[in-house]
Amino acid sequence: MLSRHSQQEIARAVEQSSIVTTYVNTHPGSHDHIQKATRRIPGGVTHDSRHLDPFNLCITKASGAYKWDTDDKRYVDFVTGHGSLILGHNHPVVIDAVQQQLQLGTHLGGNSALELEWAERVCDIVPGAERVRFTSSGTEAVMLAIRLARNFTGRTRLVQFEGHFHGWSDTVVGAHGSPGVPVALQSLSTVVPCGTFEEVEAALADETIAALIIETSHPSFFTLDDPAAYLRFLREVTERKGTLLVVDEVVSGFRWAPGGAQEFYGTHGDLTSLAKILAGGLPGGAVAGRGDIVDTLSFDLEARNGRAKVVHPGTYNANPLSAAAGSTCMLLVAEPDVQRKATASAAAIRKGMNAVLRQAAVPGCVYGEASMFRIALGGEALPPETDLRGPIEGAPAGREATSGPLATALNVGMLLEGIALFNSRGITSVAHSEEDVANTVKAFDSTIQLMQDEDIV
Ligand code: PLP
Repeated sequence: MLSRHSQQEIARAVEQSSIVTTYVNTHPGSHDHIQKATRRIPGGVTHDSRHLDPFNLCITKASGAYKWDTDDKRYVDFVTGHGSLILGHNHPVVIDAVQQQLQLGTHLGGNSALELEWAERVCDIVPGAERVRFTSSGTEAVMLAIRLARNFTGRTRLVQFEGHFHGWSDTVVGAHGSPGVPVALQSLSTVVPCGTFEEVEAALADETIAALIIETSHPSFFTLDDPAAYLRFLREVTERKGTLLVVDEVVSGFRWAPGGAQEFYGTHGDLTSLAKILAGGLPGGAVAGRGDIVDTLSFDLEARNGRAKVVHPGTYNANPLSAAAGSTCMLLVAEPDVQRKATASAAAIRKGMNAVLRQAAVPGCVYGEASMFRIALGGEALPPETDLRGPIEGAPAGREATSGPLATALNVGMLLEGIALFNSRGITSVAHSEEDVANTVKAFDSTIQLMQDEDIV
């Protein structure tokens, strides 16, 4: 049974399978929506990751662990606001805070006690956070962190890790390239494989590097034998070379632990980029970190220690609705039971799905750190019937695991079973119950069986 199918055979089987046609026939509302949407919105989606073949769901509402589509079907939601909703959809305490703020204004055009409260709570939780500057997204938080690092060090170049994602700005996407980004920007970044020591040393050797940035939620980091030791190495080598260490905790922040990956692994960088959970499900991001660096945004020359002032406007920075949601969320996620419960659900899903694959003799595995799971179908080997932090040998990774016909059959098949994955991945929240977890594993079992029946796996 193992590796019996070539890519062409899989593509043909998916094309002929009942999975896609059943999906099209039973989701007329979403089908109709995508046809209209593509006339006005390119691809019919407003985030590249929301694209799904043949079309993604048109969602009308969400609550707790669930969301509903325009055909009134209910799904257990594992997109969870792209990972921003560790408390689940519409947590009543967060919603109450936002509703109260709505009566008081959606943009106050000045400073607010609310943004100070939010900043205080971030500093209470995030390791090394002496100052905070709010932005409107994670992409902007990374852009600002890099700008601060360049000004502080007087250097220009960056070191990034292969495949690590830091949002869509030209500042960081340049390293991996995108049409529309000047090739010249690529020369400002050196890309090295995560987990290497000598290559990092070599990349930092010429002492022109302003910052080294790491995505702590990327599998190439958390599946290292000893991620904590690697982070300590990065801390030590950057300090030695006069380079700043920027830790991108947009995903891992408030999720790996209340204080994110840096609390989890016990080492912190100079600057941290935050977003998602930070703003409680509303738009928002922040740079947090060393006072002497973040204070280069100050208007006071002394506070800047004589350095030039870094420019940072932004109409919706710390907007009152995001501040109300974010500040309230910070209080709730400071309680480690939140991360423990969400992690327990993801661990049970990883273990349960691996047992399904093994018993069905379907190659692949389900793995992940903390409250996230990644399904990688393919390769040659069966997984053990356990929770896995990293993928088994030969399992597909990255785009290979999340796009293409096999991923289409998996994601669409799970939707038919009432489970909404996020491109073959899932992110859990405290709202997911033991019953939701059991139903998800059962749905995976049925989907894998159907894929076997239709000769896809
Ligand atoms: N950094 C990481 C690690 C992310 O995963 C993301 C988004 O998913 C970003 C940065 C960009 O954040 P945003 O989508 O809020 O701009």
